[in-house]
Amino acid sequence: MHTVFCDVAVIGAGPAGLAAAIAAKQEGAANVLLIERDTAPGGILQQCIHPGFGLQLFREELTGPEYAGRFVKEAREAGVELLSDTMVLSIGEDHILTCANPEKGLVEIHPGAIVLAMGCRERTRANIRIPGERPAGVYTAGTAQRLINRQNAMVGRRVVILGSGDIGMIMARRMTLEGAKVEAVVELLPYLAGLTRNRVQCLDDFDIPLLLSHTVTAIEGKRRVEAVRIAQVDQQRRPIPETERTIPCDTLLLSVGLIPENELTRAAGIEMDSITNGPSVDQRMETSRPGIFACGNVVHVNDLVDNVTAESRTAGACAARYALGTLPRGQALGVAHGSGVRYVCPQRLDAAAGGKAALYFRVAAPGGKTVLTARCGETILARRTVPRVSPGEMCRLDIDTAHLTAPVTVEAQEVEA
Ligand SMILES: Cc1cc2nc3c(=O)[nH]c(=O)nc-3n(C[C@H](O)[C@H](O)[C@H](O)COP(=O)(O)OP(=O)(O)OC[C@H]3O[C@@H](n4cnc5c(N)ncnc54)[C@H](O)[C@@H]3O)c2cc1C
Repeated sequence: MHTVFCDVAVIGAGPAGLAAAIAAKQEGAANVLLIERDTAPGGILQQCIHPGFGLQLFREELTGPEYAGRFVKEAREAGVELLSDTMVLSIGEDHILTCANPEKGLVEIHPGAIVLAMGCRERTRANIRIPGERPAGVYTAGTAQRLINRQNAMVGRRVVILGSGDIGMIMARRMTLEGAKVEAVVELLPYLAGLTRNRVQCLDDFDIPLLLSHTVTAIEGKRRVEAVRIAQVDQQRRPIPETERTIPCDTLLLSVGLIPENELTRAAGIEMDSITNGPSVDQRMETSRPGIFACGNVVHVNDLVDNVTAESRTAGACAARYALGTLPRGQALGVAHGSGVRYVCPQRLDAAAGGKAALYFRVAAPGGKTVLTARCGETILARRTVPRVSPGEMCRLDIDTAHLTAPVTVEAQEVEA
């Protein structure tokens, strides 16, 4: 068995892992090892050739590969060591990682601290149980994106997309630009699942119909998809039989949600949040296991990579401080999601950390003018009024944690429809 020692080991070289590794180096960790199962770093961004990345961070519209490329270069220059083609299999006692590498075989890594940055994967047909035949032509939107953008393989000519998440809408535009006809984007919910800007730029600009409160009820075709049946759903999200109709098509793309890749996290006995399906963390992105930090989509699914980079820098810097023995530890205070809020990340605050903490959260339902509040008892820590809210768009409040002594609650109250 190959054995490697380092200060900080980062699992996953997507935008989260890259930002965390660079920050760990900048914080003074001498040896930072970035472990990636893929051949190249960059994560999901390698296949996202559309613009829209880095608007907040760089005030520029970059493509996914351009955004990732900046961090790959910075990591190399900072002296981060990349171990690619290497899959982390388990996290053992004393932070020991067991990995598999095609040349080295099993590799045992002994880090001072760990950052989990494994991203997420897409839900498939099996996760949502669409009835009907099992023909070729049913893809997750991300798989279709990878085939078209990285392998130059067109997946179909006449397409229906189930789910109005960002990947689905981006693929609606991409398929259209490649000459396919997108018949409709079909969404179960009565509101858009992704960002409004993607609806405008990817659907409205290309006259692609969005059917809210609809679902796919069956897939037809023996060898290849020949049609899908769709129907409107009632308030309990049950198909209304008399509204069912058939759309002839050869391809069905699924954009029906993402699952954070937390098999390693669960097996390591780390406390999980049942809503985000990611580990519970504090404002330093530390999980319930001291010395194990987490960031990016493995913690909660982010719509903007800029947020991923910001929280990952925190995770990497704090992991380095843990490894160097300079991370203070104080009383843990909970962060609760109050009325109108579905979840908040981080789920707790460490009173010893001090300084500002960013609270990222999603509202439970779409609304008009809404007041977002973070409070500690009767004390308002942060308050902001926004013109509208949607579960598809992450909200953020920054609070000062210097003198906190009690749990914090985040609420969203609609004041004007
Ligand atoms: C299709 C799509 C379009 C998007 N469009 C935009 C956009 O326009 N603008 C924007 O700001 N954001 C966009 N996003 C969101 C943004 O890209 C993501 O939030 C971001 O990429 C998440 O980064 P991550 O590092 O957490 O995950 P990922 O990029 O998924 O990286 C995770 C990495 O971990 C590796 N890994 C996993 N498990 C292991 C293991 N056990 N061992 C070793 N390595 C492992 C994976 O191979 C992968 O490289 C988009 C996302 C998608 C999917």
